[in-house]
Amino acid sequence: MNMEDEMSMEKGMSMEKGMSMEKGMSMEDSLEEVYARMGIRKEVYEYGSRVWESLQERFAKIDQVAEYNQLKVIRAMQECRVSEACLLGTTGYGYGDLGRDSLEAVYAKVFRTEDALVRPQIICGTHALALALMSNLRPGDELLSPVGKPYDTLEEVIGIRPSKGSLAEYGITYRQVDLLPDGSFDYEGIRNAIGPRTRLATIQRSKGYQTRPTLSVERIGQLIAFIKKIKPDVICMVDNCYGEFVETKEPGDVGADMVVGSLIKNPGGGLAPIGGYIAGKRECVENAAYRLTSPGLGKEVGASLGILKDFYQGLFLAPTVTASALKGAVFAANLFGGLGFQVVPDGRESRHDIIQAVTFGTAEGVVAFCQGIQAAAPVDSHVLPEAWDMPGYDAKVIMAAGAFVSGSSIELSADGPIRPPYAVYFQGGLTWPHAKAGILRALQSIVDKGLTEGVLCRKNSK
Ligand SMILES: *Cc1c(COP(=O)(O)O)cnc(C)c1O
Repeated sequence: MNMEDEMSMEKGMSMEKGMSMEKGMSMEDSLEEVYARMGIRKEVYEYGSRVWESLQERFAKIDQVAEYNQLKVIRAMQECRVSEACLLGTTGYGYGDLGRDSLEAVYAKVFRTEDALVRPQIICGTHALALALMSNLRPGDELLSPVGKPYDTLEEVIGIRPSKGSLAEYGITYRQVDLLPDGSFDYEGIRNAIGPRTRLATIQRSKGYQTRPTLSVERIGQLIAFIKKIKPDVICMVDNCYGEFVETKEPGDVGADMVVGSLIKNPGGGLAPIGGYIAGKRECVENAAYRLTSPGLGKEVGASLGILKDFYQGLFLAPTVTASALKGAVFAANLFGGLGFQVVPDGRESRHDIIQAVTFGTAEGVVAFCQGIQAAAPVDSHVLPEAWDMPGYDAKVIMAAGAFVSGSSIELSADGPIRPPYAVYFQGGLTWPHAKAGILRALQSIVDKGLTEGVLCRKNSK
């Protein structure tokens, strides 16, 4: 099957004039025509333009945050005297790896912590979080989540769902206090849940695959202060995935003992091909380093290979890349919210991560959205994503990602577990124009499947 057949099958219609993928772009084409060639028709394009025009003030504020964070990153690199030699790598044991050690100092400055562990040997966000937990908890300790159920992949780490090598297998118990129905902290419940064995509180900033609100850094600070008042030696860890550089403050600014995340999300700026970080108190980071490598070796070993230039440059780009992703999220909230779909966060509220949830209510809507995102990707645009049983998740998940770095979710990507309420969680976009095109293409898929009403109803748009 050739690409055009596939595309027209996916849209359930015959190819229309002006939409042929074979025809190249010429300078005389209007923007609308170029969009049409990507499969985005006039009605969708014009609706998108109206939404975009209404968001100028919002976008200006996002740019201001990016400007602040860009300076923060540059200052940190200057203060750590990042030099050309830091961009080179080591091999073997990696003793005295200047670039690796300087990068960790830069992360500690950016996240306002005493120390940091930033390594390509940390495979992903889940690994970073598991490492932080397993290295700082001991048998008999209790872990507390005061913000409800943690991210899906952590269920097996903790042992909420039984798994080999979980914290539960090592005699570390777990307690959870859900957020109240209005999204606020259940302070009474948290107070009652903290006992003599409570050793670590895990606070997830982002909503992950849920429709609860994402926590602002300010609210995280209030929660940490509350926990520390009851029991000062509780280690407060923040799962910072997707939250980096969305605000001018980070959890380290408000008392977090550990701030943990993935480099193929925000802080890698799209360039880091792998990696995770743990920024925090010296002792917490040392525990993590001893667990990652070996007791006694810790941070002293771990060759950076040839990867450091991408880690540095990715961090340098991260504030503006995050801003692009954020604009995409705000745009989508207004676009889909305006058509009557439930969107979390809504089009107007303040943002604390780059994830946008859109609830379609049907598996068909989730699939159409993801296929639309895929169709607008720079890589693998010709493949049609399908739902599959992904390791670590308890329902089938469909994922759309035409990414330069496999699985990178700072690049425009969407995923949706095939289970009620049939919501899609989408994030990323290394550039705002790509985020916009992908979101419009996803809307076009939804329109083509007849899943919208009103002005963009399929009957009207034909
Ligand atoms: C992505 C994510 C994780 C896990 O990160 P992976 O890199 O996918 O393993 C954990 N917590 C949150 C909130 C996330 O968004």
